[in-house]
Amino acid sequence: MGRTTEAIGQLTALVRGASRITAFTGAGVSTECGVPDFRSPGSPWRVHKPIRFADFLASEDTRLEAWRRKFAIDDVHGEVQPGRVHRTLADWVRQGRVGAVITQNIDGLHERAGVPQERVIELHGNGTYAACLDCKARVELAHVRRCIAETGRPPVCEACGGLVKSATIAFGQAMPAESMRRARSETLDCDLFIALGSSLLVRPAAAFPEIAKQAGAALVIVNLEPTPLDDIADLVVRADVGEVMQHVAGALETPP
Ligand code: NAD
Ligand code: ZN
Repeated sequence: MGRTTEAIGQLTALVRGASRITAFTGAGVSTECGVPDFRSPGSPWRVHKPIRFADFLASEDTRLEAWRRKFAIDDVHGEVQPGRVHRTLADWVRQGRVGAVITQNIDGLHERAGVPQERVIELHGNGTYAACLDCKARVELAHVRRCIAETGRPPVCEACGGLVKSATIAFGQAMPAESMRRARSETLDCDLFIALGSSLLVRPAAAFPEIAKQAGAALVIVNLEPTPLDDIADLVVRADVGEVMQHVAGALETPP
């Protein structure tokens, strides 16, 4: 623990000295909440492989299969509550330390922890609801489940007849332009960028820590496993991210 304790001390000092922090989160911040990450063995994502966007568009049978897989994954964890990273970041946003939370997660837990919507940037969308691909009208998942149970077919938009899809970004689907723009600007505007619980393997999302570093911010990576960006980071904390954030939050409350 000696090494980790020292790293937590260094992270605390960086957080204290920063004038604007941008946080960047991945699936590792939600594993303690019961949401499995992507790559671990036994992950339901490996069993229920995500369907590519072009295939989703191509046939109703595939759309039905996409819903079946999505609900199978959702049912693994059911309703989940925010964990220590979500709660700490929500506090830091309230305190004005963190300007924005850029997340690859689709579980909606940063908002649930109390980060205002305008301070959460969801690069891969949100899997807690669905939306019409054409008019963007929001559709609740309960409605989708009911429709499939009653008719055996996936729903279409009641407003415009468009295809209804989980509000996430599928493989092969364009990244959300406005979220990418906001993420870029928050990345360029911070003096401390903290990547939490991400393998930093999924691009283009994983480019943001690199952009932050190039723009002169200090870069901290907190993750259980090594990442491809560890070499350029100012500080790497290889430990449980919930544990680390809990300690840093505690240390911030006592004067240096
Ligand atoms: P990833 O699965 O590639 O990486 C998660 C990383 O977190 C791993 O390197 C793992 O070692 C680490 N980790 C797991 N538990 C940890 C803990 N307690 N403390 C510290 N580190 C921990 O996830 P990613 O980088 O976010 O990319 C995967 C993609 O899959 C995302 O883009 C996302 O869209 C999707 N996804 C989202 C969720 C979610 O919303 N919670 C879950 C799974 C996958
Ligand atoms: Zn519509």
